[in-house]
Amino acid sequence: MGLISAEQYKESLNDGRVVYYKGEKIENVATHPDLGVCADLMAIDYEMAENPEFRDLAVIKDPESGAEISRYYYKPQNADDLLKAHELIVKATELGDGYIPLAHDIGADALNAINITANMIGNQDYIDRIENYRKTLQQEDLATCAGVTCVKGDRMLRPSDPGQAHPDFYIRKVDQNEKGIIVRGAKIHITGAAYCNDIIVLPCRAMTEADADYALSFAIPANTKGIRQVCRPFRSHLSPLEFPNTRPVRVHTDSLIVFDDVLVPWERVFLCGEWKFAATLVYNFALMHRRTGCSYRIPLSEQLVGAAVAIADYNGISKAPHVREKITDLVIYLETLKSLSKTACYDFVMRGGLAVPNPIATNMAKYHFAHYYHDVVKIVQDLAGGLVVTAPSYRDYQLVEMQADIDKYLQGVKEVSTENRLRMFDLIRRITSSDLETICLHGEGSPMAERMTIFMEAGKVLAECKQLVEEMAQVTK
Ligand SMILES: Cc1cc2nc3c(=O)[nH]c(=O)nc-3n(C[C@H](O)[C@H](O)[C@H](O)COP(=O)(O)OP(=O)(O)OC[C@H]3O[C@@H](n4cnc5c(N)ncnc54)[C@H](O)[C@@H]3O)c2cc1C
Repeated sequence: MGLISAEQYKESLNDGRVVYYKGEKIENVATHPDLGVCADLMAIDYEMAENPEFRDLAVIKDPESGAEISRYYYKPQNADDLLKAHELIVKATELGDGYIPLAHDIGADALNAINITANMIGNQDYIDRIENYRKTLQQEDLATCAGVTCVKGDRMLRPSDPGQAHPDFYIRKVDQNEKGIIVRGAKIHITGAAYCNDIIVLPCRAMTEADADYALSFAIPANTKGIRQVCRPFRSHLSPLEFPNTRPVRVHTDSLIVFDDVLVPWERVFLCGEWKFAATLVYNFALMHRRTGCSYRIPLSEQLVGAAVAIADYNGISKAPHVREKITDLVIYLETLKSLSKTACYDFVMRGGLAVPNPIATNMAKYHFAHYYHDVVKIVQDLAGGLVVTAPSYRDYQLVEMQADIDKYLQGVKEVSTENRLRMFDLIRRITSSDLETICLHGEGSPMAERMTIFMEAGKVLAECKQLVEEMAQVTK
């Protein structure tokens, strides 16, 4: 079959899968007004493969068969393979306006992690099964997601601990026959599961011998009998209170997936009872996935940096020393993330026959992004000011009797129209998302106002400290 088109991908979702959203069973996720927005985002991966501008990045020739396949499902062998995959994810996320399309990448992380682990176990059945599954994914160009996080129940108790309220908080094998294994349990937060073709399941933690039935990995079509999903509600369209924007809204949703005694054929089972290797598989997946995560966070970080620069200009503060300092912090944040993400590819290591990103650089990149993320959001909200949460809505701006007032009083620098300034506030509200963060920042005065007050009020204590050291040094007056 080979590579498929975006349309073929969307048609493939009309397969009788059981998906619930906002209290309704969804007939066809691809044509649903909300879930269809997510499928459109995922379809970007297929559109890139069709587009001559991105084809070289998105598609690669399989050295064995000579067929064109998605680069995501190619087995990385060197730094260049990892770098190209990194560039592909960055570009795809740029096209998704900061959201990664997700049709292949997290699934590919799971696929590669299973592949490496099978080689480390040295089990020829598992090696053959995962190699065959890779070929299927390459030939059918399936959209995949990774189901790793189990619902877990009492976090302090192991999967098999009799103290758990029931034994099904972690996915487990309840039976097996000549066709395959029967699995029961639930996964949570699984992004893209409602509009992917296959769900690739991995264990979510290290296991002990008593947990052997929970040491499971397999792949299963999303429409398999016994699988039910409930999707997180989300906002799929701009509010009428926001300035109209013809760019499509990009968004994903995450599923609670229930596996109600689901039959998984043996040829799709990649781990079944080898409890010592559950942690290895989790580790390998986390490494791959963190590198993917750092790649798709670069466009998001660029949005935050761009928003800070734009709103500082619109507010007329871009030359103020404290603003330059903050923008410099943002540049350091972004460039460190980019450099560490690339370093992870250049300094790759071979593991289980595949090139994997450097573990230290990858984890540093991920830690760096997450650790400073709120600081970055804080800078954007600080420079924007309180209008991020208090600006009049687009509806109010349209009032004939109010527009002149809003235009007059909510302008910043004279070179930028009030409408453009308000549009930027809409965008900042969307990409920083939490009104509360801005309220905390600006309520009772901006952070800079507080710092100036602190400095002014500290005169007495500073004088006392100075006197202390002058006495110690026996400075003569
Ligand atoms: C938007 C979103 C998308 C996601 N997409 C996916 C996806 O596609 N696939 C997937 O598999 N997962 C996905 N995840 C899941 C993500 O990896 C988990 O949220 C993460 O692993 C934390 O698990 P949890 O949410 O169950 O929180 P918990 O595990 O409940 O953690 C809550 C707190 O409890 C602490 N804690 C937990 N267990 C213990 C313990 N034993 N001892 C001490 N402290 C403990 C944690 O440190 C944390 O502070 C997604 C999550 C989000 C939010």
